[in-house]
Amino acid sequence: LPAAGPDTPHPRTARVNTLRMGVEEAMRWLRSPPPEHRKWAAVGQLAAVDELLPDLLTFPPGTDLHDHPLVDSGVLVLQSKASCMPAHALAPQPGWALVDACAAPGNKTTHLAALMANQGSIVAFEKDPKRLERLHGNAAATGATCIQPELADFLALDPEEAQYSGVQAVLLDPSCSGSGTAFSRMDYLLPSSADRLKGQAAVEHCDERVEALAQFQQSCILQALRFPALRRLVYSTCSVHARENEGVVAAVLEEAGARGFHLEAAFPTWPRRGVAGLVEGAERLVRVDPDLDGTDGFFVAVFAKAEGGQEGGG
Ligand code: SAM
Repeated sequence: LPAAGPDTPHPRTARVNTLRMGVEEAMRWLRSPPPEHRKWAAVGQLAAVDELLPDLLTFPPGTDLHDHPLVDSGVLVLQSKASCMPAHALAPQPGWALVDACAAPGNKTTHLAALMANQGSIVAFEKDPKRLERLHGNAAATGATCIQPELADFLALDPEEAQYSGVQAVLLDPSCSGSGTAFSRMDYLLPSSADRLKGQAAVEHCDERVEALAQFQQSCILQALRFPALRRLVYSTCSVHARENEGVVAAVLEEAGARGFHLEAAFPTWPRRGVAGLVEGAERLVRVDPDLDGTDGFFVAVFAKAEGGQEGGG
């Protein structure tokens, strides 16, 4: 890879949907496609398994995989490396009962289903009917049969209802500013594309929006912590704003502690950690830098209950 920097294009990545094919078999297919797909052999030679995430394949920047037969057949899911980190951090085991709190379009939900080998259950809440349709479609395309999509406002349900008594783990990837993704970064960071960010008023509008999102994100975490049998909770954003990341964790840490949860060190070998000084235990949080890490800007926090609970997370 070229040296990382703000202008370095990101490698292309694709997650192997292990419900359809194992990683080794997918690599064999890519390197030596069946005769009718020979034209894809050159692309396949350039595939490599990611060093951190065992089901993620990397390709050189600019590789066009959209018409690839393995994408069409649901074996490969075009997904950024950062977006594949939360499911691994949650580390669900086959047979677990999960909730994906803000699930559509379901890239992480279908990833969880693959990690669980479709054994167990994932109730996937989404409040937007159109986006829920996309979740249905993605679950069908990937063969993720253990997903139960539900049109619901996650904040309006009661985690203490009997039907949720077995929920062991929650993936919470709520709406955020998206400031870590390439599209949003154009709006947020580049003055030349900042038609909407004129002067101080626009900056204040941005601050207000981020604060409102952070309040919502905190409410979602507090809601998730109320599932009586919860052992693990992963909170993630594709934001680079500290308020939505370390700021949110700091705001809920006392309540999480009161309920017996601690911050688990997610991906201990990953070098970029939470911003020190903004929250106790920042070194256990994961930051992904969109300029330096070759993928979207991202943030991952793992709340875990120690006693009797299964530890994991990359
Ligand atoms: N995890 C998804 C994935 O990887 O494909 C992306 C989730 S996206 C960041 C957040 C989603 O949460 C949006 O689809 C949004 O409509 C949904 N959402 C926002 N507020 C919600 C709420 N209160 N209850 C349920 N879903 C909500």
